[in-house]
Amino acid sequence: MAHMGQDKKVIDGQLRFILARGIGEAFVASDVPRDAVRAVLTAALAAHEMGHFLGLFNTSEPTQGLFDPLVDTPRCTDTFPEFTRAICPDGDNLMFPLLTSQLQVEITPNQSSVIRANPLTREL
Ligand SMILES: [Zn+2]
Repeated sequence: MAHMGQDKKVIDGQLRFILARGIGEAFVASDVPRDAVRAVLTAALAAHEMGHFLGLFNTSEPTQGLFDPLVDTPRCTDTFPEFTRAICPDGDNLMFPLLTSQLQVEITPNQSSVIRANPLTREL
């Protein structure tokens, strides 16, 4: 939350969000309750960590030049400070290692296969 306060969408200390009512119906809101923001970020973090639990790696590592071994996972060859969601081709992936104020929910077919191959996701 503290990092989000430094975002360029902050005006007079008020955090602004680009939200959608539906496809093509985006709008800007500055009255989003902090608890709602915190809940969404917590859910996003939980989903990312569940991906690790089920066998996925971070798509790219920002300081070490290491990548997920799956062939269809996009890779970011930049390192800090250029390693950002906006620049990296894997920035929208669930397993991108930096959590941002925008949802990162993409998974590749191979990432999906890893999750489905885990015994914890199989039907009994
Ligand atoms: Zn991670």
